[in-house]
Amino acid sequence: MPTISENIELIQHRIEALANQNHRSNEEIMLLAVTKTRSPAEIRQAYDTGLRNFGENYLQEAIEKIEQLENLDICWHFIGTIQSNKTRIIAEHFDWVHSVDRFKTAQRLSSQRPDNKSPLNCCIQVNISGEESKGGVAPENVTSLALAINKLANINLRGLMVLPLATDNPEIQQQSFEKTAQLFESIRVQLPQLDSLSMGMTGDMDTAIAAGSTIVRIGTAIFGPRNHSDKTRGQQ
Ligand SMILES: *Cc1c(COP(=O)(O)O)cnc(C)c1O
Repeated sequence: MPTISENIELIQHRIEALANQNHRSNEEIMLLAVTKTRSPAEIRQAYDTGLRNFGENYLQEAIEKIEQLENLDICWHFIGTIQSNKTRIIAEHFDWVHSVDRFKTAQRLSSQRPDNKSPLNCCIQVNISGEESKGGVAPENVTSLALAINKLANINLRGLMVLPLATDNPEIQQQSFEKTAQLFESIRVQLPQLDSLSMGMTGDMDTAIAAGSTIVRIGTAIFGPRNHSDKTRGQQ
């Protein structure tokens, strides 16, 4: 079995190669290590290779790890479903939230963000495939939501996040990512400061980077397959 640090090196090389192929700068693509179900010791190994951005889906699990690793210089990203009675915990413990899909949630995150912290970095989650069971905003409502969230005092709106339909069909994958990237560009006409497009996981990172992703969220390719039957795609 390759080690975590070997896996990270491989992925970093792959990101570099993909950036080159797509005439993009390697530096505009963040490798976000997704650590749901992973132990603090595994996170520590990834941290020791130089990674600083880590993403978690489940709040209770995340808070325990954040507290155990509080002496490390980690930027924590929340990428799971947001329950509205949990916004305070998120606003207090995380640096980024990728899964905002309602104005009310953003409003609560903004008002609950502690004064001694910088504004919370947020992405709006887009339901690009129109799946009924999935979180995320319908594409036609994203621009008005972005304009409203952008006015909140303690939110730093950064861009969009997408978790497209689980499929092995690369063409459908590519279409979802390209649609999201087009939506992102159309919002940037009004909000040119937006700089983040969170898309791509272990199985679809290449397609996502080709379409313009600036944050890839990678779990399995770094840490190996997850044992638990966690509901990755449903985020819960
Ligand atoms: C689990 C998860 C990932 C990482 O998935 P892998 O396939 O293990 O790379 C990325 N994004 C979200 C929202 C997830 O829940």
